[in-house]
Amino acid sequence: MRHYTVRMLDFETCDQARLRRDAEYDGLFFTGVKTTGIYCRPVCPVKPALTRNVVYFPSAPAAERAGFRPCLRCRPETAPFCPAWKGSKSTVERALKLIDDGVLDNGTVDQLAERLGVGTRHLSRLFQRHIGASPLQAAKTFRVQRAKRLINESSLPMTEIAFRSGFKSVRRFNAVFLELYGRSPSKMRRPVKPAAIPRRKIETGWVSAHV
Ligand SMILES: [Zn+2]
Repeated sequence: MRHYTVRMLDFETCDQARLRRDAEYDGLFFTGVKTTGIYCRPVCPVKPALTRNVVYFPSAPAAERAGFRPCLRCRPETAPFCPAWKGSKSTVERALKLIDDGVLDNGTVDQLAERLGVGTRHLSRLFQRHIGASPLQAAKTFRVQRAKRLINESSLPMTEIAFRSGFKSVRRFNAVFLELYGRSPSKMRRPVKPAAIPRRKIETGWVSAHV
């Protein structure tokens, strides 16, 4: 499918954008810091890590799949998904929209693929190629995003937040947060000053961003 062959930004481009905290690149790549196991947005206010200690990912789920935890300062897991391909009506984009709407919270990947009119294996391959993670990993990231939002912006009890965010059980909710942040959801609830980071949605892909 030639339509989808859009290359990822190269290391040098990412590295320069990160070192100057270029907001134009927010959502276009994510930085994993090998020495801390944390991943960040290009606009992170924390002192930048040395170039030899970083690795770049095309999406938040890809960084998480590689074992990195989201930074608590720049909150990379809430950055917009930036699909690394051309075309605004692609299968992956439609899939991400449906996943964000919660189709994988109750349904299966097979059902999602059927709804999109593609095979399950084909869908998984497209996900690997374009966001570097599976549909289920993307669903997990979206659930965590919803939960983090409710934890930070509401005073709902954790049980309520777990179900509203799409987790099947409170146990699963706690386990995912422990795995991702190394702490329970209730420990995440503390007054946090909103980061002085633009939250605009980025629609551009890898290529259009640096031509
Ligand atoms: Zn950060």
